Formats: sequence, C-alpha cells, structure tokens
Amino acid sequence: MTYPPVFHETFMRLALREAEKAARAGEVPAGCLVVRVPEDPGAPPAAARVVGRAHNQTELLKDPTAHAEMIAITQAAAALGDWRLGGTILYVTKEPCPMCAGAIVLARIPAVVYGLADPRRGGGTVFNLFGHPGLNHHPVLLGGVLEEACRDLFTAFFRACRGGGVARPGAAHTPDPEP
Ligand code: ZN
Repeated sequence: MTYPPVFHETFMRLALREAEKAARAGEVPAGCLVVRVPEDPGAPPAAARVVGRAHNQTELLKDPTAHAEMIAITQAAAALGDWRLGGTILYVTKEPCPMCAGAIVLARIPAVVYGLADPRRGGGTVFNLFGHPGLNHHPVLLGGVLEEACRDLFTAFFRACRGGGVARPGAAHTPDPEP
C-alpha cells in the first residue's frame, strides 16, 4: 500500500466511470476495479493490469449478489486462472458491504481502496471483517480516495430517486442504499 496517491486515484477514477454507468442504468452507483499491481511501488499506473471491472447490476440481473465487487472478483479470478487474487488491489467507490467484504477475504485480496465509507453497513468500518481475529486473511484498508466525487455520485443518485428523476427497473420499491 505504499503506492503514491496518484496511483490509487488513477484506478478510483476508472471505478467512478463504472459507478456512473450504474447510475445511468438506474442501479445504485457503485463501481469496482480489481488491479494486478506491479511489485515495485514506484512503478507507474500503466505497469498495473486491470483484471476485473464492473458496476452494480442488481436490478438488471435481478440478483441480490450482483454487486460491483462480486462481479469484478469473478472476472479477476477468471482472468488470472486462480481463486486466490494475491498481488491485487480492489478499488471500489463505496466501502464494501459485509457480503463483498467476505468475498474479498475469501479471495485473499491483499488491499482494498475505497472512496466513501459506509458508517451504517460497512464491511470494514462497522463489521470489522477485514480485521476480524477469527478470519485468516486481513486485507489492508485505505479509505477516502476521491471521496468527494464518490459521495457526489451517491447523493445525486438518491436525490434523483426521491424526485423520480431516475428510471429504475424496480422503481415501485424504495431503493436499497446498499451498493
Ligand atoms: Zn456488496
């Protein structure tokens, strides 16, 4: 996690692009990248390889597990040919929920970088799944990367939902703020 801020911001920006796609599709705007990182922390972002890139598709797939992180982790495992995602960093616009935090631990992802914390249901800050003594893998957590941009996207989305400005496939129900 000794990479410079510009390194993390490069990939968070791409995760934000994914989140914007989700918002346009009426999905809760969460975006995620899984990046295979160079061993040299001084290497430029171009030396890293994006192996998973996804946004929330819960409404489209009618699948409560179709969070951005779950889809990106599945892609990364397929790309790397291994369920152990060592040597990667997972970037996500909002702190992972407990389900996604569990998947991150199972995948042995060494580091998680997020934009916006979730003080109600955060898998790390509330449920401590990344530091739980009963679990055998403890990813490093770094929050607050491009936090303003991540927050703005969420705020705008839920404001539009309340105002009826976003066409959601399941619009009859109140949107679940869980990404
Ligand atoms: Zn999740």
